[in-house]
Amino acid sequence: MSDEKRVVIVGAGFGGLTAAQALGSGPVRITVIDRKNFHTFQPLLYQVATAGISPAEIAAPIRSILRSHKNIEVLMGDVIAFDLEQRIVETTDSRVPYDYLIVAAGAGHSYFGHDEWEVFAPGLKTIEDALEIRRRVLLAFELAERQAASGEGDVPLNFVVVGGGPTGVELAGTLAEISRHALTHEFRSIDPARTHILLIEGGPRVLPSYTEDLSRSAEEQLKHLGVEVRTSTMVTRVEAGAVDIGQTRVPATVVLWAAGVAASPLGKKLTDSVDRAGRVPVLGDLALPGHPEVFIIGDLAATKDENGKLLPGVAPVAIQQGKYVAKIIRAELEDTSPGKTPRKAFHYWDKGSLATIGRAAAVAQFGKIHISGYIAWLSWLFVHILFLIGFRNRLLVLIQWAWSYLTYERGARLITGSTYLPGWTEPDNGKIVTNAQPRSQEISSSTHK
Ligand SMILES: Cc1cc2nc3c(=O)[nH]c(=O)nc-3n(C[C@H](O)[C@H](O)[C@H](O)COP(=O)(O)OP(=O)(O)OC[C@H]3O[C@@H](n4cnc5c(N)ncnc54)[C@H](O)[C@@H]3O)c2cc1C
Repeated sequence: MSDEKRVVIVGAGFGGLTAAQALGSGPVRITVIDRKNFHTFQPLLYQVATAGISPAEIAAPIRSILRSHKNIEVLMGDVIAFDLEQRIVETTDSRVPYDYLIVAAGAGHSYFGHDEWEVFAPGLKTIEDALEIRRRVLLAFELAERQAASGEGDVPLNFVVVGGGPTGVELAGTLAEISRHALTHEFRSIDPARTHILLIEGGPRVLPSYTEDLSRSAEEQLKHLGVEVRTSTMVTRVEAGAVDIGQTRVPATVVLWAAGVAASPLGKKLTDSVDRAGRVPVLGDLALPGHPEVFIIGDLAATKDENGKLLPGVAPVAIQQGKYVAKIIRAELEDTSPGKTPRKAFHYWDKGSLATIGRAAAVAQFGKIHISGYIAWLSWLFVHILFLIGFRNRLLVLIQWAWSYLTYERGARLITGSTYLPGWTEPDNGKIVTNAQPRSQEISSSTHK
């Protein structure tokens, strides 16, 4: 019987995948479990959502990324629980034992206790989310053109983006760009350039995790692109076709949600003491308290720096944590007298932050160096293409980008799936009718309101 140790990694996002690759050549059996068969490069999801690139260009099969490591097996499955005493991971259809466990299940959206808003205001976290956003955005232009063409006059289009963090800012900026440039010559009865884009942020400034000067610059760049920015403004209700700001109702053809993040529900399966965002507080070595064999990394972990400040939910944190836990595990497996390898606390090396706003518009913060505009955008482009997994993807995305930069063209403008847009109504012989049948989930959610 082999006494080879087994490491189980839950989640093949930035953290899990890095840990698997770093352990790949070691004397250990590794099982990577993910509910998807592909890894998603989340920083470019907004480009899929806004029809700039196709989904396969920012996703790569997990099996193929890890294929050169013979000691890694990949299982597609949904993890639902853990037996920490017996050291077993439970999926919907199997029980997988482990010696070491790394949980890197990431995060999803938070609607601050209003999950019923989700059907009216999709968030952006997965490829499926991006395709749903793309469908709604493109459909809105088509429905407006159809209505205007049948003699109803110009139909106002209002896009509302809730949340002024990096995702909200890039979505709002890119939507403005599409309506002002990519679509201008293609419609006959509506003028896409008249689309109103409103970005609503609850706090006093957009990009709150950046310095004030960069927040100000981001707001100016957004305004320059044609986005209306409202800060210190709280959305109090979202419905089909409208958002409420206190007593004021704002009509919204499409609402996008970029306001809240909630860690994977798997955190609560590991401990009762998760923080308000559902993250698991970990020890300095990223282990679950009381379980040195269980590590939590990436967006699911509440990790603090030396000053007690929570580390941000960004890819470099997850990547560095993946490398760090792999190193600990390797050291302990190679040390024949366990307990002798002391664990040094995790230290995050912050290389800087970049946020894109639109074509040639971005902000970048590298320590004391703050950059805005074209140079920041070029840095953003360089970093994101460099880290995109797979040479083929990198090259394709670069070519696509260069093309759309020169021509303003957005090539992935496919409306697939339902032709229902929540809240859209069309006059029909004096009666108001919805444009099509809602999908079953939308029917059930609207009837539960
Ligand atoms: C739209 C968007 C834009 C972003 N832009 C940037 C950016 O520009 N720069 C940056 O640094 N960061 C960015 N981020 C944040 C960054 O993507 C995350 O911090 C990073 O992905 C976290 O890595 P992770 O490994 O913790 O989780 P993830 O990368 O989210 O991976 C989690 C994995 O776990 C799997 N999983 C989840 N639950 C289960 C389950 N129950 N069973 C099995 N598998 C499961 C998922 O399928 C997924 O593959 C962005 C995020 C989003 C959503």
